[in-house]
Formats: sequence, structure tokens, C-alpha cells
Amino acid sequence: MLSVCPFCYKEFSTKSNLKIHMRDRHSGQGPWQCSLCSKLVKNKSSLRVHFYQQHRKPKTDIPSIPDLKPI
Ligand SMILES: [Zn+2]
Ligand SMILES: [Zn+2]
Repeated sequence: MLSVCPFCYKEFSTKSNLKIHMRDRHSGQGPWQCSLCSKLVKNKSSLRVHFYQQHRKPKTDIPSIPDLKPI
């Protein structure tokens, strides 16, 4: 039984895949998660801006943060 996205009609084999897709594509948030506060952002550069603005991390520190990966 396929789960179909109500926004773009893409088909997914499981409900959880559909959930991930909807979160990534249609929630206005993104798959990149801040390791410090769990905020979701659209991309790596948004995450860098977030780190800098919210956590006062110097920009030079940001590339070395280990949890910069999409969830
Ligand atoms: Zn969709
Ligand atoms: Zn954060």
C-alpha cells in the first residue's frame, strides 16, 4: 500500500518515508538539524547562519562542528 504525498503526489512505500518527505519538502523547514538546539533549517549555509546568530559560534568554528549533516 503506497502512501501518496497530498502536495506533490509523489508515492512512498512507507508512511514514515512520506512523513520525512513532507517535512523536508513541504514544511518550510529543512533536513538539516542544529546539534545544539534541534532547530531544522533548509541547508548548510542556513545552519551556519543559525549557529552564528543563535549560538554565537564564530564562523570559523562552524565547519568543524561534527553534527552538520542532514537528518
Ligand atoms: Zn510532496
Ligand atoms: Zn541551534
